[in-house]
Amino acid sequence: MNRYIKNVDRIEFSVTSACTGSCKHCSEGGNRRLPSFIKTDKAVEAVRSLCALYNISSVMTFGGEPLLHPEAVFAIHRAATEAGVQKRQLITNGCFTNNGDRLISVVRELKACGVNDLLLSADAFHQETLPLATVKSFAAAVMEAGIPMRISPAWLVSREDTNPYNLKTRAIVAELTAPGVTEGEGNVVFPNGNALLYLKEYFDGRPTVPNPYEEDPRDLHTVSIDACGDTLGGNIYSKSILDLIREYDPL
Ligand code: SF4
Repeated sequence: MNRYIKNVDRIEFSVTSACTGSCKHCSEGGNRRLPSFIKTDKAVEAVRSLCALYNISSVMTFGGEPLLHPEAVFAIHRAATEAGVQKRQLITNGCFTNNGDRLISVVRELKACGVNDLLLSADAFHQETLPLATVKSFAAAVMEAGIPMRISPAWLVSREDTNPYNLKTRAIVAELTAPGVTEGEGNVVFPNGNALLYLKEYFDGRPTVPNPYEEDPRDLHTVSIDACGDTLGGNIYSKSILDLIREYDPL
């Protein structure tokens, strides 16, 4: 067991870097239009191997917009369900098709594969390019399917700040909140990618907002695998995840 990776309890997959949105606060910025998406068989293999080695309590899929490649999302969560992972999370903007039948069938399959914590990204930034009506249709289908869902907004400066983006976000969250649909913690926009380009004035002269996705590389709790297979300083398309764990060296 690698001493830097002995406390892993979570796996995260960036299923694709492609997205239907084009948000001003997106931390990935220019990466969003890359066409790659995760190799499903390799992702499933990684879930099984990691679950056999560690006590994994949560698996998350996100993107880009992960539901542009729903079969990969289904397969990852199905593997997590079969391995006994308790929390199976998906972050989505809810906008991946204009076809109502397709929408319903994808949502039903999300329920069937075991997604049990759906985080719906909705706020002033997302709704500049993604129609709220489409998000509402998705949310209605998720509720109908019985998948637990939380609205996950991005706040600028802080949740309490009264800048124009936050005021609009509050109104959007209020529109989407319904019986059984709560507001999640969301996150505070941090200075990276597009946020540095388009929201720079909100960071100047203020305390730095930490990147919530960064971890101590000498005590990893999450194995994060991106759409092109990169993780732990290597790649699951060319090596097994177990070899990558053995070889990982943060120094
Ligand atoms: S913030 Fe999310 S929805 Fe918006 S462009 Fe980035 S990945 Fe897409």
